[in-house]
Amino acid sequence: MPATMSPKTPDYDALLGAHLDTLRAEGRYRHFLTLHRQPGAFPGALRADGRPVTVWCSNDYLGMGQHPAVRDAMIAAIREDGAGAGGTRNISGTGRHHVALEAELAALHGKQAALVFTSGYAANEAALSTLARLLPGCTILSDADNHASMIAGIRHGGGPKRVFRHNDLAHLAELLAELPPEAPKIVAFESVYSMDGDIAPIRAIAELARAHNALTYIDEVHAVGLYGPGGAGVAARDGVEIDVVEGTLGKAYGVGGGYVAGSATLVDAIRSFASGFIFSTTLAPAIAAGALASVRHLRGSDAERTAHQERARATRAALRDQGLPVMENPSHIVPVMVGDAALCRAASDMLLDEHGIYIQPINHPTVPRGTERLRITPTPLHDDAAIAHLAGALATVWDRLGLRRQKLAA
Ligand code: PMP
Repeated sequence: MPATMSPKTPDYDALLGAHLDTLRAEGRYRHFLTLHRQPGAFPGALRADGRPVTVWCSNDYLGMGQHPAVRDAMIAAIREDGAGAGGTRNISGTGRHHVALEAELAALHGKQAALVFTSGYAANEAALSTLARLLPGCTILSDADNHASMIAGIRHGGGPKRVFRHNDLAHLAELLAELPPEAPKIVAFESVYSMDGDIAPIRAIAELARAHNALTYIDEVHAVGLYGPGGAGVAARDGVEIDVVEGTLGKAYGVGGGYVAGSATLVDAIRSFASGFIFSTTLAPAIAAGALASVRHLRGSDAERTAHQERARATRAALRDQGLPVMENPSHIVPVMVGDAALCRAASDMLLDEHGIYIQPINHPTVPRGTERLRITPTPLHDDAAIAHLAGALATVWDRLGLRRQKLAA
């Protein structure tokens, strides 16, 4: 205890450390792997000690974080605009790249306006909390598997919320029917769910919401850039009109930042009342310029999207051939189920240390206990040799850990 503290001072480190000990005891303590992602080498990278790894768990789904057009745009912006934005959007922080990026995102989603945030998390938190606060008596109907950032936004909004069972239309219909038709309400859900890779019944949810006079709010964080015309997402692919689309610039677009797109008035209301937007320094100009280059590139090119889907199919097939427990889904995400936090950690460690493969274990609370998994994210840059190496390494690790494989008959 430092000399300045009285004996009555709580032992803060001991109180906090007890929580960390619980995580360690359950095998859920998060270890960060330091990676040197060298331009041009992705999905290859170097560990801190110089050992090479193949990254199989990045959300840089298309490798756009290494794309020459994106890097060049960022370097040019640093030269021409400097390092930082210099302020919040309201106080000197609005630059030409932010304005151009918002116009591009609005056009991508066929919306009147878009607003950029420092992250997708900030976008969800700010947008949902602000809508809940501004719309009198607004009930938010939230899918049970919604991301932590949506849950935080709904909570901070302080209004009534109803949670419907994941992708359960009948339950959503039941909850909607309990609310007065004229009362404001928002149905908030995702398109591609990041951990299971399943996709919401977007059309049916939108129809149900419309029938009950509810606004629709969709998180397309794991879909923008990857699905739909120009990468506008799954709702756009399926031709479904959604009132508010939220996305990230940090996953398929490979840079960082988040956004919402919607009607001019709705976006203006969030711009004018969302604390998480108003009181936060704007994205650096280079981030906005890089994201803009990435969005523009993917609006004009299907090649990356097509290759991405093909690589995901090839990876899935190779793992299935080894009898590995791949969760089936209609997206690009390939979850391989382990079902135990310590085994999941052990599998990840063995892959890294013995096979040069990096897949972060996914444990509770990110997924329910008993469904711990390795979440594999193929990209267009994982070639056949990398896929074969992955499948062989996983099979070896599974056997060494006594995990179940069910090799399909030839
Ligand atoms: N929504 C979903 C569904 C996500 O998975 C994430 C990131 N993991 C976010 C929002 C937040 O996006 P960002 O990483 O840009 O903060």
